[in-house]
Amino acid sequence: MRFFQSFQRITFILVCSVGMAITYAAYVAISNIAAEQSKIQQQSVSPVFSLVNEELLKPLHIAETIGKTRYFDSLLNEENLQKEKVVTLLNKLEQTFDLTVFVASEKQRKQFLSNGRVIDLIEGKVFWYFEAMEHDRDLFADLGQVGDVHLYFDFKVYNEEDQYLGIVGVGKSLKKFIDRFEDYKERFGYDFLFVNENNEIILTSLPDFVVTGAHIPTLDSLLWYQKLEGNKSDLNSRLITENEEDFLISEISIDELDWKLLLLIPLEARQAQITKSFVTNTVIAISLVLIFFASMFWIMMYYKHHLEKTVDIDPLSQLPNRTYVQRRYQQLRRQDADVAVIMVDIDSFKSINDTFGHNAGDLVIKTVSLILSEEIRQQDLVGRWGGEEFIVLVPTSSESYAGKIAERARLRLEKHDFHQGGVATKVTASFGVTFGHSRAPLSELIAGADSALYEAKRKGRNRVVHHSL
Ligand code: GH3
Ligand code: MG
Ligand code: MG
Repeated sequence: MRFFQSFQRITFILVCSVGMAITYAAYVAISNIAAEQSKIQQQSVSPVFSLVNEELLKPLHIAETIGKTRYFDSLLNEENLQKEKVVTLLNKLEQTFDLTVFVASEKQRKQFLSNGRVIDLIEGKVFWYFEAMEHDRDLFADLGQVGDVHLYFDFKVYNEEDQYLGIVGVGKSLKKFIDRFEDYKERFGYDFLFVNENNEIILTSLPDFVVTGAHIPTLDSLLWYQKLEGNKSDLNSRLITENEEDFLISEISIDELDWKLLLLIPLEARQAQITKSFVTNTVIAISLVLIFFASMFWIMMYYKHHLEKTVDIDPLSQLPNRTYVQRRYQQLRRQDADVAVIMVDIDSFKSINDTFGHNAGDLVIKTVSLILSEEIRQQDLVGRWGGEEFIVLVPTSSESYAGKIAERARLRLEKHDFHQGGVATKVTASFGVTFGHSRAPLSELIAGADSALYEAKRKGRNRVVHHSL
C-alpha cells in the first residue's frame, strides 16, 4: 500500500516535471522565434540603409545642393533667360551626377531640362509644378507626369527677399529603382514599398503595384493591409500572410521625404522552424527530466541499500541483526513459504569469556558466525539474535532438511580448533529446530525452536533437538 502511494507520488511529480519541461521548451522555442525575428529584421534592414541613401537621399541632396548655389538665384531672377545658357549648364550637371537635371522658372513659367527640352508651365496642364508650389516643404520628391517614368527630387528656390523664384531638381528613371530592387530581392529575398505621407506607393518591387500611367496605388489597395487590425500607423514587426506565405514587416521612416519604407521579409520556413525548435527543446527538456529522475532514483536506491546494510548489520559478527531477520521473515510470509527456524546457542560461553577474556569471546562469536554462514544456502539466512545466540531461517518444505543443516554446522564447530593464546580449544553449540508455515508469527516458531534448544542444553549440549509445533 505504501509502495503504491509513493509510486503515485513519484508518477505525479514526474508528470508535473514533464509538463514543466514541455512548457519550458515552448517558452524557449517562442523566445528563439522572437530572437530569430529581430535577427531577421536587423539583417534585412542594414543593407537597405545603403539603398535608401544611395538611391533616394543622394539625389535629394544633389537637388538641394544645386538649388542652393547662388548661381541659380541669379539665373532664375533674369528677365530674359536664354535657353542655350541654361541647357548647357544643366547638361554639365547631368554629366557630373548622372541624373536628369531641370530648372523651372516662375518668372518665365518655363521648365528647362538637361536633355534640351523646354516645357511651358501652363496651369491646368502641368499639374506637378502648381502642386509643388503648394507643397509645404521646400525639398521633396514626386513622380513625373503621366508617361514620364521618373521620380523627381525638387528644391524650391527663393531670392534674398524670400521671393519664390522657381524649382531646381533632378530626376531619376524609375527603371533604375526597379533594377536595384530586383537586385536586392534576389540577394536578400524581400520586397520594398516606399510610401509617401498620403499612403501612396511611390516605389515598389511588387510588380502589380508599380506606378503606371496616371494611377498611383495606395496601401489600401493591398489585401493584407485591408485585413490588418489595430494601429496601422506603425507596421514594424507585424506579421502578415499573403498568398499563404508569412511575411514580417520592417518599417523604416525616411524623414527627409516624409516617407516610410516597408520591407516585406518572407518567413516561409517559420512554421517548420517553430516545430523543429519546439520538438528539439521538448526532447532535450524531457530527456533532462528523465535523466534527473533516473539519477535521483539510482542515488536513492543506492543509499537505501547502503543504509539498510549498515543499519541492519551487527558490527561484531557482520551478520544480519534481529530487525533484518524479522524483515526477511515477513518476506517469506508474502511468499507463503514453509519455513524452519534454527536457534543456535554457544555452549558454556560464559566460561570462555571467564577463561580467555572478553576479546577471545568476541573472536569465538566471529568464528561461529563465519562457520554458520558457510553452512547455509543462498536462500537461507543466519542472523545474530543476541549475545552468543544465533538464528537461522530456512525456507524449506521439510524439517529434516533444516535438521541436516543444523547437524552439519554442529559437526563443523565441534571439529574446529579455536586458538586461544596459543592453546587449541574446542567450542560447541546447541541447536533447536522447529518447522512450520510462515503464516504463523515468528515469535511462535522461535518459541518452538527455543524450547528445543533448552531441551538440547538439558540433554548435555552439543546436539540438535527438534520441536514440532
Ligand atoms: P549455556 O551453555 O547454558 O548457554 O551457558 P552460557 O555460559 O553460554 O550461557 P549464559 O547465557 O549464562 O552466558 C552467556 C554469556 O555470553 C553472558 C555474556 O557475558 C556473554 N556475552 C554476551 N554477549 C557477548 C559479546 O558480545 N561478547 C562476549 N565476549 N561475551 C558476550
Ligand atoms: Mg550459551
Ligand atoms: Mg545464551
